[in-house]
Amino acid sequence: MDYGMIGKLEKARRYSTERERFKFNSLTVTMDGDNNPHIIRYDNGNWNCDCDFFLTRGRCSHTMALEMILEGMIEVQQEA
Ligand SMILES: [Zn+2]
Repeated sequence: MDYGMIGKLEKARRYSTERERFKFNSLTVTMDGDNNPHIIRYDNGNWNCDCDFFLTRGRCSHTMALEMILEGMIEVQQEA
């Protein structure tokens, strides 16, 4: 590896520990639920999940788990 790339790799390692630098704008995730896989989407502060609970409550264990994983890297949704 050349020196230029070694420098970038060191910078990448530092960046990767500084989560607050990263803001997810949108993402789509497949999550293995206890019963079925679920598709979770996030787009500029808005969550979506294909499970029945989300349809009625606008939040579910799947989206909340992702909120925990991505803490500090997404807009925080207010408690309903
Ligand atoms: Zn869900």
